[in-house]
Amino acid sequence: MLKVDLHCHSNVSDGVLAPEAVAAYARKDGVDVWALTDHDEVGGIAAARAKANDLGMRFVAGVEISVTWANDTVHIVGLQIDETNQDLINGLAATRSGREARAREIAAQLAAAGIPGAYEGALRYVANPDLVSRTHFARYLCELGICSNNSEVFRKFLTEGKPGYVPHRWASLSEAMGWIRGAGGIPVIAHPGRYKFGATAEGALFDEFRQLGGNTIEVVTGSHTPDQYGIYAEVARRYGFLASRGTDFHAPGEARVEFAQLPPLPSSVTPVWHDWF
Ligand code: AMP
Ligand code: MN
Ligand code: MN
Ligand code: MN
Repeated sequence: MLKVDLHCHSNVSDGVLAPEAVAAYARKDGVDVWALTDHDEVGGIAAARAKANDLGMRFVAGVEISVTWANDTVHIVGLQIDETNQDLINGLAATRSGREARAREIAAQLAAAGIPGAYEGALRYVANPDLVSRTHFARYLCELGICSNNSEVFRKFLTEGKPGYVPHRWASLSEAMGWIRGAGGIPVIAHPGRYKFGATAEGALFDEFRQLGGNTIEVVTGSHTPDQYGIYAEVARRYGFLASRGTDFHAPGEARVEFAQLPPLPSSVTPVWHDWF
């Protein structure tokens, strides 16, 4: 059976390894089909593709676009994109453009909460100055010993009602899906189990996604609990969606689930890659 990982981050967004090193890490884990899906960025694709080819791994060009939907953040992965598509490139640049000002505001709030210097501290973890992420702040707060891991950071800081939360408007769902589809790609709702929507809002998201031409959701992801694999396999079956699978890898040791522990897709769903090879 093919080992498929269609969701990974490099240091072009909020991962820690360069794209080539993520490719090598995936290959060492036995991955046969691999996508790099950096947040709002395709700058790592060329290097990732070259390294994947060297390693004998099938490569899928991807991206994970930050979207504001119903006043909340939703992530839409695009798979099999043409990363040279100009509308996609422009759209991603626009989506990234507010990040620096947001980061300065996050730092100002942290300073007010007694943690000075967080902008400069976070920047030391940033390889791509266009993409300062909350993850970079989380790593810095861990370095300071204020928290012992990123999930503790996101419980105590950077999220609604906590110091360092700065609401932000990302792309709209229809923009993100338009860019992905315009670049020949397949839009995928990333880790649907991570959003805090009730059943009605979640159903509205799936309906709108489908109306906009979407037909794939992540079912098995490092960002889901094992219970959620079954829940979203059932959602996929009910909506007639294809299913995707990926680690959501960011850094060795930071993963909630290592690749080897991530189970295959349940046999009740059709993998998004069913007709790729
Ligand atoms: P941003 O795009 O700057 O809002 O940062 C979002 C990123 O923060 C996500 O892609 C994750 O990598 C990370 N993140 C969000 N929530 C958590 C969490 N509870 N635990 C660990 N990482 C998280
Ligand atoms: Mn991330
Ligand atoms: Mn995500
Ligand atoms: Mn991700």
